[in-house]
Amino acid sequence: MALIVQKFGGTSVGDVERIRNVARRVVATVDAGNEVAVVVSAMAGETNALVKLAREVAGGPPPPREYDVLVATGEQKTSALLSMAIQALGRRARSFSGAQIGMRTDASHTRARIESVDAAKIRSVLRDGVVAVIAGFQGIDEEGNITTLGRGASDTSAVAVAAALGADVCEINTDVEGVFTSDPNLVPAARKLDRIAYDEMLEMASLGAKVLQRRSVLFAKRFGIPIHVRSSFSEAEGTWVLAEENVMERLVVSGVTYDRNEAKVRVRGVKDQPGVAAAVFELLAQADIVVDMIVQNLGHDGTTDMTFTVPLGDYERALEITRGCISKIGAEAIDGDDTIAKVSIVGLGMKDHAGVAARMFRVLAQEGINIQMISTSEIKTSVVVDEKYTDLAVRALHAAFVESGASEPVPES
Ligand code: ASP
Ligand code: MG
Repeated sequence: MALIVQKFGGTSVGDVERIRNVARRVVATVDAGNEVAVVVSAMAGETNALVKLAREVAGGPPPPREYDVLVATGEQKTSALLSMAIQALGRRARSFSGAQIGMRTDASHTRARIESVDAAKIRSVLRDGVVAVIAGFQGIDEEGNITTLGRGASDTSAVAVAAALGADVCEINTDVEGVFTSDPNLVPAARKLDRIAYDEMLEMASLGAKVLQRRSVLFAKRFGIPIHVRSSFSEAEGTWVLAEENVMERLVVSGVTYDRNEAKVRVRGVKDQPGVAAAVFELLAQADIVVDMIVQNLGHDGTTDMTFTVPLGDYERALEITRGCISKIGAEAIDGDDTIAKVSIVGLGMKDHAGVAARMFRVLAQEGINIQMISTSEIKTSVVVDEKYTDLAVRALHAAFVESGASEPVPES
């Protein structure tokens, strides 16, 4: 007998027939002799509809506390409906809101952080042979206010529940068959990965792959919870997200990702002296703007250039803030570009292979694609290119690194 947490995303519970399908899957898992806690998202489109309603009624950005009360209803609705559907199949189930299972968070409305989960409460339900159907995406703060955890955060709720229970696996049931080597809409040759390491998945999630919320992977890594990403609509095995030592094949490149939602800001001719970078990036941080890549050139004649990228949605504000400190940092000019894309390759095998970045640059050069910025970590290389080359770059890199099958099997011990 295993203890399994099954999470179902919005499309998996998108209508009555799909909710019944999920109920059948949950029952099959119970009948196979497992203890099951389920975490659900709101029905597809529901959260967006609630957010829109809130904006309309508030006539501007909605007050955060009331926004949370409203959007948390989406998941609550699904948990009740799924519990009914499981009961209609003759099994015992009970729905729970985040508050009811003691999903304690901090008080930052709309993007709260999970602090603890009342595992004893869920365990006692499961021990009675009842399926716990838990509303994802929400919690409760110290004062008893309803909080939500940020868009896409039902994944994180599920992993938090799995960690609290010490579950054997956290299944993420979704509308794709697993984690792919690239976006199949863009790269027809993209294939499903059988296994991927937490660190690779973390990079891929940060770099634009949407299958898992990044924070859920961080949790899973920290608590050692295996994640199984699979389709709600098929029986096939999906992708296992695991500790590095359990990933048998270290692909040099296991994923090619892209992100069109970035923009770059360039500060030209700033004084080459201590404090300049601090001045700019402190102001951006105060404005809650997350800076991604930063490139600073070698100084010459006492001045230097600095370029950085920010999320597309923060571009105008970032430009304005940077312009605001022009005199303080003694910059000659500030400009930017919001028609860029970040294209990245990710893979554990990069750790022990020289020349992967060089090969990436060569592949792009052969396609005539100019590289505007570069950043690297131990297991990824990212470049910024003109947005219009996104598809070409991703396809060429996938062909060169993934379709060619470059991999390094771990020697048997
Ligand atoms: N319903 C929430 C959203 O759409 C949370 C989730 O589905 O993960 O962001
Ligand atoms: Mg999601």
